[in-house]
Amino acid sequence: MKDHIRIEDPKQCCGCGACVNICPCGAIMMKEDEMGFIFPSVDEEKCVNCGLCISVCTFTDKGSGANGDPEVYAAVTKNTGVLMESSSGGLFTELAEAVLDKGGAVFGAAWGENMSLCHIAVENKKDLARLRGSKYVQSSTDSTFKRAKEMLDSGRYVCYSGTPCQISGFKAFLKKDYEKLLTVDIICHGVPSMKMLKDDLGYVAGKKKMNIRDVKFRDKTYGWGVLGSISGDGAKIKYHSGTSPYYFYFLNGEIYRESCYNCRYPSEGRQGDITLGDYWGIREELTSKMGEVDVDKGVSCVLVNNEKGRQWMKLIESRLLIAQSDRKSAEKRNKQLTAASVPMREHTALSDMYKEKGYDAFLYWYKKHYKEHIAGAIKRMIPGKIKRKLMQTYNDIRSR
Ligand SMILES: Cc1cc2nc3c(=O)[nH]c(=O)nc-3n(C[C@H](O)[C@H](O)[C@H](O)COP(=O)(O)OP(=O)(O)OC[C@H]3O[C@@H](n4cnc5c(N)ncnc54)[C@H](O)[C@@H]3O)c2cc1C
Ligand code: SF4
Ligand code: SF4
Ligand code: SF4
Repeated sequence: MKDHIRIEDPKQCCGCGACVNICPCGAIMMKEDEMGFIFPSVDEEKCVNCGLCISVCTFTDKGSGANGDPEVYAAVTKNTGVLMESSSGGLFTELAEAVLDKGGAVFGAAWGENMSLCHIAVENKKDLARLRGSKYVQSSTDSTFKRAKEMLDSGRYVCYSGTPCQISGFKAFLKKDYEKLLTVDIICHGVPSMKMLKDDLGYVAGKKKMNIRDVKFRDKTYGWGVLGSISGDGAKIKYHSGTSPYYFYFLNGEIYRESCYNCRYPSEGRQGDITLGDYWGIREELTSKMGEVDVDKGVSCVLVNNEKGRQWMKLIESRLLIAQSDRKSAEKRNKQLTAASVPMREHTALSDMYKEKGYDAFLYWYKKHYKEHIAGAIKRMIPGKIKRKLMQTYNDIRSR
C-alpha cells in the first residue's frame, strides 16, 4: 500500500511546499516546529494514501533538474530608483517587468499581514515593489505552485522566483517545462524562521510600539551593505546588522533551517533559468568594463543557466550596465555557489536555547558575547567608501 510523506529528519525537508500543493485531498498543512520552521503535517482523516506527496519531494534527489554550465555576468539596472530599492543590482525587477510587459504574472516573496512572508502573484509594475528586496527569512509558497500552473496552462507567461529549493519543488510539481515559464533562483546560504524574526523585530523596535509594515535588510541609505530598517505608523528605525541578534547570527550562518546545512543545490548546478546574487568583489574585477557603474549602490551577479535564460537576458540587456565574468571569479567571493553553509560554533547552543527558553535566552547569550559581536559589527558598519579612504590613508602613511 502507498503511504504519505513523513518527516523523520528535519534535514530532509526544506519546506518548499510542493507536497502541500500536489495533495489532491487538501490533507497537508504546513505547521511550525518549536523553532518556528514550517514542516508538512498530514491529516490522516483526509489522506487517501495516493503517494503523490512522496513522489513530488525532490529535496534529497541528487542531480534532479539542475542546469549546466552557466554564463556569468556582473550587471546593474540603469534605473536608479529601482536599484536603490533592490538588494543587489536590481536585475530581478528588470526580468519581472519584461514578463509583465508580455501580459504575464510574477511570483515572489512579499511581506503580508502581521509580518508574515508568503509568495504572492503580482500582475502589474506598481505591485512589483512588494517583491523587491531580499527578505532574510523563509517565505511560505502557500498555494502559489497551483496558481502558477493554472496560469501557465491557460497560456500566460509566468516568472516564478525564489530560493533554489523552492524552484526545484515548483519544477517537480509541474512535472514538465513550459515555454512561457521563466524561473529565477537566488544564490542562497540559508533561511531562519519567521518566529525568530518576529521576536527580534520586537527587540529592534524597542519601546516604540509600532505596527511594522515593512522590513528591509539591505537598506542602501549609506551604501551597499547590511543595514536593516523597519517601518510602520509613519516611523522608520534603521539598525546595523550587528545590533540585532537575529541579523548578526543570520550573517554568521548560525540560525538556519537544518535542511540549509544539508542543501544540495550549491554543488549540483542551478535550478533557475537565471540565478541572481550579489557580485561581491566587483570593485577589484570588473568596474572598468561597466561604464558609469556606482558600486556603492549594488551590483548583481547573474548566472544565465540555459538557452531560455539567455533569451530573457537579451530582452533586458539594453536596460543594464553589464560585463561578462566567469564562474570561477564569481565563486571566489561567493562560497554559496559551491557548497552548503556549515553550522558554525554557536548553532546548536543557540537552537537549544531558543527551543527551550525562547528569545530572551537567545538575547542574553548574544549580550554576553557582545564584545566579540560588536567588533565584527563595527567592521561591517563602516561604509565601503570610508573603509577605502582609511585603507588609502594607512597605505600612504606606510609608504612615507
Ligand atoms: C534568504 C536569502 C539568502 C541569500 N543569500 C545570498 C548569498 O549568500 N549570496 C548572494 O550573492 N546572494 C544572496 N541572496 C540574494 C541577494 O540578496 C538578492 O536577493 C539577489 O541578488 C536579487 O537581487 P536583485 O537586486 O536582483 O533583486 P531584489 O529586488 O533585491 O530581490 C527580489 C527577489 O528576491 C526574492 N526573495 C526575496 N526574499 C526571498 C525569500 N525569503 N525567499 C525567496 N525569495 C526571496 C524575491 O522573490 C525576488 O525574486 C540571498 C537572498 C535571500 C532572500
Ligand atoms: S515536498 Fe518540500 S515541503 Fe514537502 S516534504 Fe518534500 S521538501 Fe518538505
Ligand atoms: S498520500 Fe496523497 S492524499 Fe495523502 S497526504 Fe499525500 S498527497 Fe495527500
Ligand atoms: S540554503 Fe538550500 S535548503 Fe536552505 S533555503 Fe536556500 S536553497 Fe533552500
